[in-house]
Amino acid sequence: MRWRTERMDRGKGINNGDLKRRNRGLALKLIATGESNTRTGIARASRLTKMSVSNIIDELIQKDLIVEGEQERGEQQGRRPLSLEFSPKAPKMIGVLINREYCAAVLCDFHLNVIRTERREMDYHEKGWLLENIYGLIDSMLEVEKNILGIGVASIGPLDVVRGMILRPPRFYGIRDLPLASLLKERYGLPVFMDHQYNSAARAEKLFGCGKEFSSFIFVGITNGIGAGIYLDGGILQNRAGLGSELGHISVDYQGNLCDCGSRGCVETYAGTNAIVSRVEAATGKKMTFAECCAHSHEAVIRRILTEALEKLSICLVSVSNLLNPEAIILGHESVKLPEEFLKEMESYINRYKLSEDSGESHIKLQKPYFGEDSQLVGAACNVLAQAFEGKLLFE
Ligand SMILES: [Zn+2]
Repeated sequence: MRWRTERMDRGKGINNGDLKRRNRGLALKLIATGESNTRTGIARASRLTKMSVSNIIDELIQKDLIVEGEQERGEQQGRRPLSLEFSPKAPKMIGVLINREYCAAVLCDFHLNVIRTERREMDYHEKGWLLENIYGLIDSMLEVEKNILGIGVASIGPLDVVRGMILRPPRFYGIRDLPLASLLKERYGLPVFMDHQYNSAARAEKLFGCGKEFSSFIFVGITNGIGAGIYLDGGILQNRAGLGSELGHISVDYQGNLCDCGSRGCVETYAGTNAIVSRVEAATGKKMTFAECCAHSHEAVIRRILTEALEKLSICLVSVSNLLNPEAIILGHESVKLPEEFLKEMESYINRYKLSEDSGESHIKLQKPYFGEDSQLVGAACNVLAQAFEGKLLFE
């Protein structure tokens, strides 16, 4: 299996035009992510000359992307640099999230602020449901805003990310090789960018959330299945086979539970939310959702079941940490409902058993995402922003 990170694509065949677009994208990124909002700050952060930055900013103002903020009145009038903000006329992004349980759409601005969201629960019995509802969700976002930079899709896999296709997810409307990106491009005349849901979530957390401070981290999404988005030294790890990072199928016991994938002891057969909910039901006779299990985790039986499940997950995360040596692990999707004490226990387990010494910098942090359960959804819109920040949109 071959892997690549986004970073490795950079630096290939850069010409002047590419460089110009890239610098404009970088200026947008610095303003959008709040890293700097003055000409001087951008020059410092980008290592471009003040003259180049001034030219770039003038162009961004001309394009109605940026406006110069009001000069504040007071003693320092005349000295304080003008702050740069996104223009109300700047385009917005639409994100679409496709997972097993529901589809959702979001309308975001350049700061990844949410303007509107809508969600539709899945109905597995209706044929054609998926496309119809994706169109419905996007149409609903377009009612609020017509000026759209692009559509980002975050989806379950396997996917062909380059061609924008959903390949053949098991038990998913019988979908085979659905060219979703082309269909959306054709219908809306907008650029479309697609990635796995947890890669998208990791991208949003890296640019705007708690991933900002880490140069490598793993976003782990826990629902019925368990998947990951891996951010390593400048890029998201992409799997050429079209799969996401399938953390859930790492075996923690070769003689363990039989998994749908044919293997035994896959960690999601213990720590997936369905597995946990079923064990709670078997032990207590009560049918609870995963959120309810978390809310009742003070009850001894439920606490024991959660602890055992999360210990299995921790064992898996120790292996992953030994392999990738991340600075942090972000636990997202349904696991944001876990009480903090469980995260603390997992963090200490992982650091106790990982191979590298647990001191200062090598301590692996375990935390919840900045965007909570919405990381994948805003991540969909962020797939568009990431392209804009690379200078691949907006500039000729
Ligand atoms: Zn499996």
